[in-house]
Amino acid sequence: MTTHPPLTRIDLVDGRAAVQVLSVIEEAFGDRPVLDPPAPALEETLMSLTEALDKHGGLLATLDGRPVGTLLFRPFRGKLGVRRVGVVPDVRHLGVAQQLAHTAELRARALGYPGLVLEAREELPQTVRFWQRQGYSEVSRKGPRLRMVRLLPVTMSLPEAADTRDLGRSVGDVLRAGDLVVLSGDLGAGKTTFTQGLAEGLRVRGPITSPTFVIARVHPSLGDGPALVHVDAYRLGDSLELDDLDLDTDLDLAVTVVEWGTGLAEALNDSRLEIHLARGEAVTSEDDPDVRIATITPVGPRWMDASLDSLVSTSAAEL
Ligand code: ADP
Ligand code: MG
Repeated sequence: MTTHPPLTRIDLVDGRAAVQVLSVIEEAFGDRPVLDPPAPALEETLMSLTEALDKHGGLLATLDGRPVGTLLFRPFRGKLGVRRVGVVPDVRHLGVAQQLAHTAELRARALGYPGLVLEAREELPQTVRFWQRQGYSEVSRKGPRLRMVRLLPVTMSLPEAADTRDLGRSVGDVLRAGDLVVLSGDLGAGKTTFTQGLAEGLRVRGPITSPTFVIARVHPSLGDGPALVHVDAYRLGDSLELDDLDLDTDLDLAVTVVEWGTGLAEALNDSRLEIHLARGEAVTSEDDPDVRIATITPVGPRWMDASLDSLVSTSAAEL
């Protein structure tokens, strides 16, 4: 007999797979701690699952032909809801749940949803952490039920510095007091160039430069809008120091942009726009030194229902 690594398959299924889906749900949820109020997954029947799967579809993971993982789709307030996510006990830690999550994301993209939503129980911190690692963040809670959302990243190509500036201007138009933008990308990727455009969109006093010795600068509004706090965290050790910036400005009343802010600035706000800039040749194997690829990932309740369509249409074409 030959041995081979176990082969996982993920299929999009309808009501015809209800028997397999039910067997996975019973196995997967049957061994979970009893919650109060109880998780309703165990109340599913062949009939309820057939109906749900025929209506919105679901995913079934099989390992060498055996059903081992599942989830159900159900649109919820303009996002693709996923529920009844379960993997049978003896194949946990093989990455099946991750594959299910990834496939759900592809499905959301294919159907044109801006993001995914699910409910997790705070009594299951491992589950909550799993979804956080998949890019979901809490947007609201009702008792022990956390609503978690992952908004899909938007990617676009920026052929020239002027395009990066334009994107910054469009983002600046959308921002309001209290917002946080976290910029990442190598030296020379265009973080400061982007911030210059953003400052124009916000209509604050310039100039925006790469702060060499200064870690943060406050740019007051030229009108009655929010000020811009521009932080370069390159030399900052950890998030505590960011708290200690001792700015003379209330961040709730300003827009804060942090270059090199990944891993530091998240503590400032549970919502943020994460913007990553990469040199094009690293991504597309084009050799034009000016091309940049921007990836915008909105995180948290502030961006739940905000549309970023205007950013995509007013800047260079989406990839
Ligand atoms: P960072 O702040 O990420 O270190 P800067 O914005 O200071 O980067 O510098 C980016 C440099 O690259 C600028 O000199 C800019 O003119 C140049 N550049 C060329 N093409 C682009 C582009 N598509 N987007 C942004 N900057 C570009
Ligand atoms: Mg810079």
